[in-house]
Amino acid sequence: MRNHYIMTNEENEVPFVIVHQEEIPLGFSNAGLYRHLQLTSHGAHCTDCGFWTTKVHEYHPKQVIAGSHNDTPIIDHFHHRRFVCDSCHRTFMEPLSWLKPYQRITEIGCRTLLYRSADCTFKAVGEAFSRNGQNVRIHVLENYSEQPDLAERSTPLLIGIDEMSLAKGKGNYSLVMYDLSVPWRPQLLLMHESRRKDEVMKVL
Ligand SMILES: [Zn+2]
Repeated sequence: MRNHYIMTNEENEVPFVIVHQEEIPLGFSNAGLYRHLQLTSHGAHCTDCGFWTTKVHEYHPKQVIAGSHNDTPIIDHFHHRRFVCDSCHRTFMEPLSWLKPYQRITEIGCRTLLYRSADCTFKAVGEAFSRNGQNVRIHVLENYSEQPDLAERSTPLLIGIDEMSLAKGKGNYSLVMYDLSVPWRPQLLLMHESRRKDEVMKVL
């Protein structure tokens, strides 16, 4: 039976249906939500002349990271079509509204890598998402720099708190707060002489 439903992505209808999906839960090898998509459009406008065409030149099997589900990656499989234009006879890959050309990861997927990098190393995120650590790092940095409001924010987006003893073994603990707005680069925000609950609440 076809698992036939329409998904919405940032308030736009996504032009595909999920014809099959299979979940391998967290903890098993190759954990993830594997979805097989079928594109619902019968054709595309030629990227050169704009002529509407439905003639498929060839199919390219494609695998795309589309986000995360229960802490595992969502991995989409579909056939990306190369059409041949009836008017100018050029061939072109069909443009996809949710995926930039030549990409194998959606913007939601990139954001997922960014959030996952908050408490994992790039290498660990890469292992979970079948990519190498360097590739995760590149995506995360690109995605992060595309959010200028985040970098300009003066109030930290995320705060981490910890305790620290300035005199080891003396039990004299201070409160330390970190700005975790850039997840992989904690910055010391402030230190306070007491870590007592009422004092911490006052600082916050
Ligand atoms: Zn054309």
